[in-house]
Amino acid sequence: MSDQHLKTPIAGLHHVTAISGPAQENLDFYTQRLQTRLIKQTVNFDAPEMYHLYYGAADARPGSVMTFFNREERSQGQAGEGAAQSFAYAVSPEQIAQWHEELGGTLSTRFGTQVLSLTDPHGQAFEMVADADAGAWGEFHSVTLWLADPTPTAQILTEVFGYVHVGQERGDGGTRDRYALPGNAPGRVVDLWRSDTPGRARPGPGTIHHVAFRARDLDHQAALRETLLARGHNVTEVKDRQYFKAIYFREPGGVLFEIATDGPGFDTDEPMATLGAQLKLPPQHEPRRAELEAVLPPLTQH
Ligand code: ZN
Repeated sequence: MSDQHLKTPIAGLHHVTAISGPAQENLDFYTQRLQTRLIKQTVNFDAPEMYHLYYGAADARPGSVMTFFNREERSQGQAGEGAAQSFAYAVSPEQIAQWHEELGGTLSTRFGTQVLSLTDPHGQAFEMVADADAGAWGEFHSVTLWLADPTPTAQILTEVFGYVHVGQERGDGGTRDRYALPGNAPGRVVDLWRSDTPGRARPGPGTIHHVAFRARDLDHQAALRETLLARGHNVTEVKDRQYFKAIYFREPGGVLFEIATDGPGFDTDEPMATLGAQLKLPPQHEPRRAELEAVLPPLTQH
């Protein structure tokens, strides 16, 4: 088995992608209320009649990037088994109280640290976790994956990605197992949660589409791909996502995993100072700009 285990750990979360309702409401919440930065205004490369908005820390660092496929129609997905249930920002312990006052939500204690549980306007659960090592605002603390059976997912985290099981806790009507990477990379924690009440996830606004982990470079991504293929996982070819290179596979618990590189980076098609200011299209969709701009609702940035 040793050749099917990888020696170099993954570098934490790269981004998390969820499905939202109307883009303007999503933009207002994540930039005005949460004060993360709009770092990219583009379209879903696989369905370009839909916005794909990216938010993150001011410098757009991997590990802070929360993205949404924005659906204009009013509908709702359902959290459940086989999908990521929530994502969490790392905040300093002092900031938790400020955010609670600002946004409401529910305070609780998990693994000895304070957690503020919140919901965005389209029903997406997210959290703020007190973390003395919290870096720039917008950096992730963790994601929570809701699984019927966490064991095969845990094996990928520990045997391929380099995570270590650091604790188990009962609460919120289920059992939470925590996995963490060594060091203090943003988004270095993954929680696997099993509910006492079974129920499958249904995709739609308010649910997470996929979780992207961060490869150290293209060679690391290639090694991870080989390891996953050798273990029988159905991994895609390397896809050019304009701002990073990505591979995808559905882990045995049902969650779509991506492994993405840092390069070329979000400033590959516009300057860092004005990230997000204009609609950017990848070369394959640029010829359709006029048509797409006519379909996409206009956005107002405050
Ligand atoms: Zn992605």
